[in-house]
This record gives sequence, structure tokens and C-alpha cells, in this order.
Amino acid sequence: MTAVPLGVPEVPARPVAPRRQSRQIQVGPVPVGGGAPVSVQSMTTTRTSDIGATLQQIAELTASGCQIVRVACPTQDDADALATIARKSQIPVIADIHFQPKYVFAAIEAGCAAVRVNPGNIKQFDDKVEEIAKAAKDHGTPIRIGVNAGSLDRRLLQKYGKATPEALVESALWEASLFEEHGFRDIKISVKHNDPVVMIEAYRQLAEQCDYPLHLGVTEAGPAFQGTIKSAVAFGALLSRGIGDTIRVSLSAPPVEEVKVGIQILESLGLRQRRLEIVSCPSCGRAQVDVYKLAEEVTAGLDGMEVPLRVAVMGCVVNGPGEAREADLGVASGNGKGQIFVKGEVVKTVPESRIVETLIEEAMKLAESKSPSDQVS
Ligand code: SF4
Repeated sequence: MTAVPLGVPEVPARPVAPRRQSRQIQVGPVPVGGGAPVSVQSMTTTRTSDIGATLQQIAELTASGCQIVRVACPTQDDADALATIARKSQIPVIADIHFQPKYVFAAIEAGCAAVRVNPGNIKQFDDKVEEIAKAAKDHGTPIRIGVNAGSLDRRLLQKYGKATPEALVESALWEASLFEEHGFRDIKISVKHNDPVVMIEAYRQLAEQCDYPLHLGVTEAGPAFQGTIKSAVAFGALLSRGIGDTIRVSLSAPPVEEVKVGIQILESLGLRQRRLEIVSCPSCGRAQVDVYKLAEEVTAGLDGMEVPLRVAVMGCVVNGPGEAREADLGVASGNGKGQIFVKGEVVKTVPESRIVETLIEEAMKLAESKSPSDQVS
């Protein structure tokens, strides 16, 4: 129940679509691409130079299921902190570099698991590629080429007029080709845009034109509600075609929220073993119980459950018994009582006031009876 989910999460037998064939890179111990499970990443919001605060946030992200973390590196003090953070973090650390090529070398030297570069934001980046490729190859450090609509190469902005899908893709593939000239292919790519329609098209084109693993992101997606919708729609459109190897949900909200949303997107698409899944009805004029309250209380009571469990919370007897039977566990309410179902069988009928505690008790019994192989690793 309280286990911290570390390592590679389990993938269900029937994913949403065959994955796009891509080469594989290793971000520390986490494989990305080449059929590896789609990983979830986030980015710290602390000053990287504040090592204690950054490691604390990384620990919180790790506990929430984050598998790869990115840290910003805008100053020399941040660069100086990277070695300690990379060594003490429980999950691989990627240094995020804009503007200053010298920090790319510092991050590689510091033992970061990968480095993200934004070619549009690094002056004369193209002249530095040979040196970066050599340093990265010597240390076995992969590079993410992270193209963003907001910082697209000026040459491509002039050519296309704005950050079109074609412009984003051309920028990314141009930079990748410079690395390739120096025999370096340990690359993953992102082409982020804040408009999911443009972003989806950019990744679709990119997926056709290269075999690098792809990091999905809708950049500057917005506050939690809007950002969640945009990311779920965009990632869903791409992942349902097998496109995408690692994801970052960008929210104007604490990074742990990004991880929760990312994990939920993967679970919803069957790209990751579902854990607790509440199947609750929207309620209607037939409801004989406060479904919203009941669903919230059951969700809160079962929060943190690590075994896959489908729990149906239904407001009346119309669809209630049917849905409750399909779930591992369920309740169909009516006449001030709740019929509790376990694996399709009514095990007891309890007064409305005891529905939540009874569901939690039965869930605990089910969790204990599940074999260790059912546990989400
Ligand atoms: S299960 Fe009953 S209360 Fe819930 S939406 Fe369906 S008909 Fe309405």
C-alpha cells in the first residue's frame, strides 16, 4: 500500500496500439524508446543551486511515480550543484540548458543522465555540436534536442512565417543531422507547441521522418484544468497511434500534479497497468444516494492502493448491479442501503452510512489476496 513505485512499471497485455519502432536510448537506468514502457517525467521548480530543496522536490516526485526529472541550469551556481543532485537523486536527472553551451559540458561532466538542449536558444549552437557530441559520447550521455515553438531558430521563423509543424520538425531534424555527422545518435527529440493541433501534427510528421525516440509535451499548456485537457487530448491522439516514448505534462501547478496526470493518461490508454479505477455514475434524477460524495469518499479511502482494482460506485439499481458485477468490487445503492458486490457476487447489504467503510474493508481483503505479480512495480 505504501510502496514507492520505483523501476519500470508493468505494461498491460493489450496496449492501445502497436508502438512505433524507434531506436532506444538509456536515460540512466530508464530505457526510452525501442518498445520500452512509456516513461513519465517532470521538472523541478526549485532553484537548482538550492541543493536541499531540489533533492526534496525530487524525492516527492519519485514518491509520486516520476521516473525521470529535469532541472533547470541557468547559472554557474546551478551548474555547480548538478553533480551532487545527480548523485543523490533516486531517479535520473536531466539538465535543461538554454543559452550557454558551457553548461552543456558542465552537465555532462557532472554525471547527469542526459542533457536537454534547445538549439533555438543557444547562440552558434551548430558550431558547438562536434564538441558536445564528443563529450556526450565519451560519457555515454544522451542528448534531447528540445525544439520549442516559442524559441524557434530565427532562420526557420523567416522561412515558415511562424512555428508551423514543418518548421518545428525541420529545426529538430537539422540539429539531429549535425550530431549524426559526428557519429552521434544517442538522441531523443521533442517538438513542443502550446496548441495541441499543431503539436500533434508536428510529432506525427517527425515520427515518419526519423527513428529517434520521442519526448511528448504540450508546452505552456496552462493551469491544471486546461493543461490536463490539452495534454490528455494531444498525448492520447499520438500514443493511440503508437507515437511517443516518454511524456511530460506541463502544468502551471506543482510538478507532482504533472506526474499524477501523466500516469493517469498512460493508465487510461492501457499503456500502463491500471491501479485504482473508480467507475462511478454521473448521478441523475433516479439516484437514491449522494453519488458525488460517495465516490469522493471511496476514492479518498482507497488512495494509494497499489494493486489493480476496479471499484464501481453506482447511484441506483438501473445500471448499478450490472456495473458493480463487472468490477472487482462495487456498490449499488437504493432505499437507504448499499448492496456490496465482490467479483460479481453480492456479499452483503449494508445501511448507507456503512457503505464507504465496507467497501474499504473489502478492498483491503482483495488487495491482500492478490498475488505479488499483480502488484504495480
Ligand atoms: S446508475 Fe442510476 S443514478 Fe447513476 S446515472 Fe445511472 S440511472 Fe442515474
